[in-house]
Amino acid sequence: MVTLQERLDRGDVLLIDGGMGTELERRGVEMDGEAWAGAAMKTRPDVIKEIHKEFIVAGADLIIANTYATSPHVMKHAGFSNEETHDLNLLGVRLAREAVAEAADGRQVFVAGSMSSFRAGLDVHKLPNKVEARDSYRRQAQALAEGGCDLIILEMMLDPVITPIAIAAAVETGLPAWAGFSARVADGKVLGFHRYADDAFDDVLDSGLSFPLQAAGIMHTNVEFTPPALAALKAKWSGPMFAYPHSGEFRMPHWQFDTVMKPEPFCGEAMGYLAGGVQAIGGCCGIGPDHIAMLKRGLPSHMPG
Ligand SMILES: [Zn+2]
Repeated sequence: MVTLQERLDRGDVLLIDGGMGTELERRGVEMDGEAWAGAAMKTRPDVIKEIHKEFIVAGADLIIANTYATSPHVMKHAGFSNEETHDLNLLGVRLAREAVAEAADGRQVFVAGSMSSFRAGLDVHKLPNKVEARDSYRRQAQALAEGGCDLIILEMMLDPVITPIAIAAAVETGLPAWAGFSARVADGKVLGFHRYADDAFDDVLDSGLSFPLQAAGIMHTNVEFTPPALAALKAKWSGPMFAYPHSGEFRMPHWQFDTVMKPEPFCGEAMGYLAGGVQAIGGCCGIGPDHIAMLKRGLPSHMPG
């Protein structure tokens, strides 16, 4: 088997899957008020696996386990002990692995374990302090590695505090680590995605890019803000890049699908990322299997030039 590093080195374009949480919502799976899509692992593992399989059939070369919200510091607010949370992380990787075995038809599909800056109930007051964050991300990273994922992807890295703690925990496992940064643009400035502070996006990037990462990218960032965020990343990072923006918006308590960009224009955006040197492309919230299938048809299999 060719490794992920070899696929990157030889210039293969890799397709990433689309949003898992919003796909669960679209299918009517109830989201937990504290752990969002995290608790669905307990209630609807069958739907999670089904969604993974649809993304694989659509053409994804890399799928992301539904562990975005299953860090101990989040799950404790949903009533899960550290041991139960450990098992949920193992299960998240296992569901993705089973989906690959059942749907990849011999094609190579990598499984990423996800760790993110998600906070319970999206409540700023439930952000962990540094000591708790270190312990929590370490536990989650070790569980994901034990579960057998091929890499760990850091999702929604959006401030200079959590970013280095989460990335350090991923790197410690010895697995390849991909750092996904999230940005917004306000008054013409590129800022970290979250709204509880106005962190310059450059500061967020600086806090994460000094680690030995396999790839860095922009994710869970509005399609419109992704090009300026990629430009900021490119100014600081010369390694492999990825992008998987979101489309539509979150209005409590649900993702709004009526404003999601259609697959064809989304593919046009992706062509632009590719021309700018981005090698792995997929979608985040709002982006479903139809979009990934469109990327499969529309994008070349190797980097241009
Ligand atoms: Zn997202």
